[in-house]
Amino acid sequence: MSAAFDYDVAIVGGGPAGSSTALHLARREGVRPDRVVVLDKAKFPRDKPCAGAVSQLGLDVLSALGVEVTVPSATMNGVRVLEGDVVGETLEPMGIVIRRTEFDAELLETARRDGVHVRDGEGLRAVTRGDGPRGGFTLETTLGATVRARFIAAADGAGSTTRKLLGIREPERKGHLYVLDTERVALDAGIERGLVDFDLSILEDGLEGYYWDFPTMLDGSLQVSRGIYHANLTRPDAPSGESVKDVLGRALARRGIDIAKVKLRPFSTRPFVPRSTAWVLGVLLVGEAYGIDQTTGEGIAQAIEMGRIAATHLAGALSSGSPRFEAYEREVRASTTGRHLLQSAWMVRRVYGRVGHPARRFLLRSGYARRAAIRWYRGENLSTSTQLRLGLGLARSLFA
Ligand SMILES: Cc1cc2nc3c(=O)[nH]c(=O)nc-3n(C[C@H](O)[C@H](O)[C@H](O)COP(=O)(O)OP(=O)(O)OC[C@H]3O[C@@H](n4cnc5c(N)ncnc54)[C@H](O)[C@@H]3O)c2cc1C
Repeated sequence: MSAAFDYDVAIVGGGPAGSSTALHLARREGVRPDRVVVLDKAKFPRDKPCAGAVSQLGLDVLSALGVEVTVPSATMNGVRVLEGDVVGETLEPMGIVIRRTEFDAELLETARRDGVHVRDGEGLRAVTRGDGPRGGFTLETTLGATVRARFIAAADGAGSTTRKLLGIREPERKGHLYVLDTERVALDAGIERGLVDFDLSILEDGLEGYYWDFPTMLDGSLQVSRGIYHANLTRPDAPSGESVKDVLGRALARRGIDIAKVKLRPFSTRPFVPRSTAWVLGVLLVGEAYGIDQTTGEGIAQAIEMGRIAATHLAGALSSGSPRFEAYEREVRASTTGRHLLQSAWMVRRVYGRVGHPARRFLLRSGYARRAAIRWYRGENLSTSTQLRLGLGLARSLFA
């Protein structure tokens, strides 16, 4: 049956979602690697604006597949939550911070070594659905080549070309970020200890998100990835008319860094919302093409776990011939990642919105709350008693 096609699966996008899908197909699902192609418009190693924090959840999924991360990394030993002069610090392992250029290239290269056909520097330009019961797709690439594939995994990130070309309608949503790297400065009290800083002071400026300082290994030395995440729930800018960039400028100035002297990179994210589309006939959306965590703005570990689930359902579809992926959507939503995405979409207004003061105060003042948040971030289930204790603490901080 598959001989009618060049490939069983065409994966569009070679980021963590695409590589994870390819690796799981080849290593876990027993799909012949040379029947899988990854198309990416960028030539790897490619640049990717990102802070690079990878939750332990994503590392565990890779490790279960026999993929260990060997690129330089900084360990995340805990968190500091800041607001003005108040600092809440908790030591608890969280995962690692990598450079995306290196991490993504290593994952994609591993898939290539496994025998997957990796065609980087060759993007998707057009896609046509096949007629008849065999269906499938013809993909036209930016190099003018034609690729016929039975199924497509759309792992092409926030701006997903596949989604646009197939006319998959989506709720409007967009988060805004700026990212930069600098040397350490005097106020970076947590960086050497491997602590990641989330500064909530920017909420006072009307933004909905946080400013971050993360340790990062750049060119062999410990430096700092800094940036700002604005979940953009109600408005693109702060009510005072300040832009996200103005607020970032003030956060940097508090650390003695002149925004005019650093190289800034703006980017948008595509947060997961409950109405996000997971699939259309013959096509799965994986990673940020589906959606990422709206509260943290993060999506690397989520992309990796979604790739695992996508591979299971692609392999199933190759045996059954069915182009329907309802079960994929159900499994993603029931997975650790799916639960996180749904909880985050619910939490975001309760943390960053006008009603969010008690939740922020709780996070800032309670070590128990921060430890639970870290365990949640690592993908662990919180017991009923923990959830009750969190609910009680939150209720108390309503009246504090
Ligand atoms: C500033 C910033 C900071 C962030 N910090 C963090 C963080 O610390 N931790 C975290 O977990 N997440 C973070 N994120 C989010 C994270 O970057 C994404 O969630 C993650 O990259 C999603 O992985 P993906 O594989 O789905 O998509 P991507 O990594 O975006 O990969 C998509 C790939 O598709 C390719 N592509 C696009 N169009 C086409 C086409 N037409 N044809 C072929 N290929 C195509 C692209 O070249 C790209 O390689 C951050 C994002 C930003 C913007």
